[in-house]
Amino acid sequence: MKLLRTFQELKSWRLMQNEDVGFVPTMGNLHQGHLSLLETSLSNHKASVISIFVNPMQFGPKDDFAKYPRTLEADIKLCEVLLKNHTKKELVVFAPSDTHEIYPDGFSTVISVPRFDEFLEGAMRPGHFNGVATVVFLLFQMVKPRTAYFGKKDYQQYRLIKQMARDLSLPIHVKGMPIIRDESGLALSSRNQYLSAKEKSEALYLFQTLQHIKQLFAQSIHNYEKVKNYIQKELEIDSRWQYLEVREARRLHSHLPNKGRIVILGVLKVGEVRLLDNMEVELL
Ligand code: AMP
Repeated sequence: MKLLRTFQELKSWRLMQNEDVGFVPTMGNLHQGHLSLLETSLSNHKASVISIFVNPMQFGPKDDFAKYPRTLEADIKLCEVLLKNHTKKELVVFAPSDTHEIYPDGFSTVISVPRFDEFLEGAMRPGHFNGVATVVFLLFQMVKPRTAYFGKKDYQQYRLIKQMARDLSLPIHVKGMPIIRDESGLALSSRNQYLSAKEKSEALYLFQTLQHIKQLFAQSIHNYEKVKNYIQKELEIDSRWQYLEVREARRLHSHLPNKGRIVILGVLKVGEVRLLDNMEVELL
């Protein structure tokens, strides 16, 4: 395993590789969710890169950039352990030592997919998706992967990156990966560690609600009315919801199809923590 701390080092390494590079962008503080993406990349490619960079551009003024957990040493150990099951595979941990490695002095470009700023996560967090799209684009340029792996945990982010790659004709396959949950159903997230034991059990309400809505679809597949009423009532009686909505899965349109994939997206605020989750449903 190689730890690279500068763009120059990454550039030199990349010149020695062929196209078959897998890529997993992260902000570190790795857990099994991140590691499941890396595991797939290591299995599928001769060489893989995992980036660890807490991207200031995607945090708003009220977000937790300063206190976002930075645990590089532990992250490296987890990567080393994972690599043990993949002999003959190469792994680079790209952990820029300074923000300037990604955003050089005078950097003034923004990559934007404006449609995604108009609803749900994008509407609640102005500038967030510009930060995400810009850093992912820059990392794509640096790593030049054949395939990049994104968790469906951040569903809107995954769809946004797919849209960006398509619109800009990037020669990169953007692959969405299943959400990893703990045994109770709670989706793993670096922010879960901020939850007290009591809040952790409250947090389960998010998963349970998504599951309940999925079941409503199973009972009466095209009965959107029932689902709509249920969601409306939820939003009215429980102020912890920042949003709870069903959308068409590919383009996240609010107009729902009669057939195909839809996704239930929710954010529940538990204490100080915004918990983000979703569930895909296939309408047959
Ligand atoms: P982050 O470090 O939070 O920016 O996440 C880096 C990548 O890991 C993103 O593609 C996330 O969607 C993915 N990820 C985070 N948590 C999970 C999870 N519980 N299951 C699957 N993927 C995840």
